[in-house]
Amino acid sequence: MPILEVESLSKEYKGKGKMNVFQALNGINLSVDSGELVAIMGPSGSGKTTLLNILSGIDTEYSGVVRIAGTSISEMSKNELALFRRQRMGFVFQDYNLLDSLTLRENIMVPMVLDDQEVEDINSRTDETLSLFDLGEVKDKYPYMVSGGQQQRAAISRAIINGPEVIFADEPTGNLDSKSSSTVMKTFAKLNALKGATIVMVTHDPFAASYCNRVLFIKDGKMLLEITRENKERRA
Ligand code: ADP
Ligand code: ADP
Repeated sequence: MPILEVESLSKEYKGKGKMNVFQALNGINLSVDSGELVAIMGPSGSGKTTLLNILSGIDTEYSGVVRIAGTSISEMSKNELALFRRQRMGFVFQDYNLLDSLTLRENIMVPMVLDDQEVEDINSRTDETLSLFDLGEVKDKYPYMVSGGQQQRAAISRAIINGPEVIFADEPTGNLDSKSSSTVMKTFAKLNALKGATIVMVTHDPFAASYCNRVLFIKDGKMLLEITRENKERRA
């Protein structure tokens, strides 16, 4: 079942003056099934960030339709979209976006606390996630005290704690050395394999893309090529 569907998606950035229009996306069609781990690649300026910002509801100025779990996010009001993003999507960023004044464990809890969940559920779910992603030993440390890989794994934990239908990641290994990139990509792969999570990431990093079961290449705002590995012979 497709969890994410994109139809005829186009985006223009308007500058000053009438002639000053830049076509950043041009007729993108895309369907992502539940349980896929997808990488979007392409040269700098090809429209990757623009595409991810639209799929994840950050940018609402475009033409075309974006559906998530069968619901069009394109016609939602600002409030509907904000709620939908909070309850049904998870986000992972290049620079982690953890709160400096909270421990890793507390950071991971934030979405459940905001969602008014039972304290018991928050504690058990947080601890389960910490151990799944090998963060038990550093759970009470603050972000500045741990490695970039550990911070990103905490950020991924936070992104999935509420059980989102789809997780969007923007250059999740962009600030990491190869060893930490590998632990982060293994975390995504584990999440995908164990929990059937659907993950869509933008990346420059062929090493990161090698963990994905589908890689989409975009250039000049158009879908150029896609490579799918049906046989799941992904990196372990
Ligand atoms: P990528 O993430 O692949 O590097 P982007 O989606 O950031 O590409 O940008 C695609 C194109 O759109 C680039 O040529 C960029 O200069 C242009 N662009 C991005 N954001 C804006 C903006 N706010 N206003 C005008 N042009 C923009
Ligand atoms: P990861 O791959 O998740 O980044 P590593 O295996 O590279 O983690 O880290 C090995 C150990 O070194 C970890 O226990 C971590 O606490 C410590 N470490 C690595 N980088 C840093 C750092 N910048 N600051 C503090 N501790 C670090």
